[in-house]
Amino acid sequence: GEPTMQSTNPATGEVIEEYETHDEDDVERRLDAAAEAAPAWGDATVSQRQEILENAADVLRENVDEYAELMTREMGKPVTEARAEVEKCAWACDYYAERAGEHLQDEVIGSEPESKTFVSYEPLGPVLSIMPWNFPFWQVFRFAAPSLAAGNTSVLKHASNVPGCALAIEDIFSQAGVPDGALSTLLIGSDRIDDVIADDRIRAVTLTGSEGAGRSVGQTAGKNLKKHVLELGGSDPFVVLDDADLDAAIETGVQARTLNSGQSCIAAKRFIVHDDVYDEFEERFVEQMQDLTVGDPMDEDTDVGPQAREDLMEDLHQQVTDTEDAGATIQCGGEPLDREGAFYPPTVVTDVPRDAPMAAEEVFGPAAALFRVDDVEEAIELANDHHLGLGASIWTEDLDRGERVAREIEAGLTYVNELVKSDPRLPFGGIKDSGYGRELAHMGIREFVNRKTVWVQ
Ligand code: NDP
Repeated sequence: GEPTMQSTNPATGEVIEEYETHDEDDVERRLDAAAEAAPAWGDATVSQRQEILENAADVLRENVDEYAELMTREMGKPVTEARAEVEKCAWACDYYAERAGEHLQDEVIGSEPESKTFVSYEPLGPVLSIMPWNFPFWQVFRFAAPSLAAGNTSVLKHASNVPGCALAIEDIFSQAGVPDGALSTLLIGSDRIDDVIADDRIRAVTLTGSEGAGRSVGQTAGKNLKKHVLELGGSDPFVVLDDADLDAAIETGVQARTLNSGQSCIAAKRFIVHDDVYDEFEERFVEQMQDLTVGDPMDEDTDVGPQAREDLMEDLHQQVTDTEDAGATIQCGGEPLDREGAFYPPTVVTDVPRDAPMAAEEVFGPAAALFRVDDVEEAIELANDHHLGLGASIWTEDLDRGERVAREIEAGLTYVNELVKSDPRLPFGGIKDSGYGRELAHMGIREFVNRKTVWVQ
């Protein structure tokens, strides 16, 4: 028969559903539809498009439980977090339903006596989005809401383990009134994506995913001269200085490492703690990590669910084991749970050598690496000693010092006394190997537009 895509419940290992993969003709039809829908969608007024985003927010809010349970079944996130994710998608739709018009207004440069000059923001046409499974709704909405508001159409290539979410999202926009073809899903594996990037009907590409996927998409997009945005991994430092509010830092640190069962690009991954408070931090951090409830993600009381796929859990365990072999000490966790499903316990590793995997690579799971530093300079130096530069969180009661450190850390997002989180009102993205471009806020909506300079004389 036809090749299929399976969604598997990582809490049980059971296959939930099989979906037929789209063949060449299906892909052709969807690309044609995206191209054909583009002129009318682009010509609609911003307020017409904003109205449709308001509808999308309504559809999301009316069906929170259904969408949340779908995510939880397909990739295992705790259902309370899944509900919050649906609400956040509705927020992003609300935000652009309110602010898109303002963000897309002509930017007047000057009105010299002899000429009028301005920048107008015009749609590009069909944009391909390649999205990951970790926030299977949010990652898509934070691109799609502004891009649709800007007048682009799009095709979505979602991760192969969340086809149910991909189809649900297509349906949400369709129910909201997005015209046929203006947002459609391609159920294809990543091995077939290069041809889509190269296709003349596709004007630009956005990817959220691993560094490897980023290099590949960047290369193909570059070769084909397609504008692209890459939002890749992070190994965010969580810097605790000697004057930090330790209660808050520990509580938030645990949350920042274990949200989404640890599978977030902006999760705190490297805990860099001042010597004066290190011992207390380690002791209480380990205690609170051990206190988390690991279990059935459908259960309201679960803090940490399974990892999204068995192979991802095995990779995570390999990183922990290799780090231990390099000389580090496991303080808690460190072994897959002896039960069905891809469950990995909250894990804390100390004395981590700088070249060990948990220091040098992205760790996508509930495993924290702790580092002891003597002063703020060493903290900054260690925080910056990484090829990734997505987010950073800094803890100090001295807000001036916090701001100074925030400016010195090499990252796209630096938060003082708060966990790094995305917010529709704030630009989001990284530097170094974490990628380039920005999502959300005014900057996100202006990534996928023709910033057209107009001179009228
Ligand atoms: P991937 O980067 O492989 O998957 C993300 C998306 O990219 C999926 O839609 C995937 O499609 C697609 N993709 C994969 N390879 C290519 C390629 N060569 N060209 C175009 N698209 C591609 O992530 P994994 O699921 O393999 O997770 C591995 C690691 O990636 C994680 O452990 C984590 O470190 C990182 N990651 C980071 C994320 C982030 O938020 N920044 C999100 C997810 C993962 P398909 O599923 O069909 O292969």
